[in-house]
Amino acid sequence: MIVFKKALLLHDFLGQKRKEKITIGFVPTMGALHDGHISLIEKSLDDNHLTICSIYVNPTQFNDARDLEKYPRNVTGDIEILCTANCDVVFMPSTEEIYPAGMGKLKEYDLGHLEKILEGTSRPGHFQGVANVVARFLEIIRPDRLYLGQKDFQQVRVLEQIAGRWETEIVVCPTRREATGLAMSSRNKRLNGVQRKNAAGIAKSLLFLQEHWREKDLPSMKQHTIYRINSIPEAQVDYLEFCDAVSFKIIHDWNSASKIVCVTAVRLGDVRLLDNVLLN
Ligand code: AMP
Repeated sequence: MIVFKKALLLHDFLGQKRKEKITIGFVPTMGALHDGHISLIEKSLDDNHLTICSIYVNPTQFNDARDLEKYPRNVTGDIEILCTANCDVVFMPSTEEIYPAGMGKLKEYDLGHLEKILEGTSRPGHFQGVANVVARFLEIIRPDRLYLGQKDFQQVRVLEQIAGRWETEIVVCPTRREATGLAMSSRNKRLNGVQRKNAAGIAKSLLFLQEHWREKDLPSMKQHTIYRINSIPEAQVDYLEFCDAVSFKIIHDWNSASKIVCVTAVRLGDVRLLDNVLLN
């Protein structure tokens, strides 16, 4: 595995590789790697000749400075995990490499309604930060395929809006879960043992919903699921909504979309967890 820290060196390396007519798969991450990330790497290894994983904790997508500070970091462990997974290249840039003009000079992307609902309103500026960092990565790497997790459903819709200009295909990979059902996340490392056990109740509530949603109307199902999650010790639902899985517009009755996703953000202690399920 080759480790790059400089954008220009990586860009040149990939330019040479591309002459061999190979396909490049790219997996952007913020490190503290777990099996969810590795499932994306494995998919990319299956689909492409060369797989690149980036590790960069992007400051511009954190609207809360304390959250950025507390974000788990484990570079040595991450490199070992990527080596074991047979990843070809890891890109670990500094902030100067990603934001050469400084972090105060972000591009403004038109993300439409996506930044005005759910994660967009709960975390002002978050998706502009995500769009900026991924755009910069796509500019440097120009991958054939970009691998993203369904766990961050709204983020996938945001990145679909911007990836087109690089002719990069987006591949969405299913959420990998712990045996308890809890969606794997770097943030789970901040939960204590009891919280981690309790956090499984979020996925359980969503899986119950997936099986029973047709039995009641949408508002009743929504109320029931929020009540269930809020009954978990220390848990507080930030939002729980049903969206058209294609347009990602919030819906209020089951007939408003042919494919429906339920998305939620839950605070458990001081850790904010995301999860979602497709209902049909
Ligand atoms: P992050 O490091 O949290 O920014 O995540 C990097 C990528 O991994 C994103 O595309 C996430 O959606 C994806 N990802 C995170 N957790 C999981 C999971 N449990 N299963 C599948 N993909 C995931």
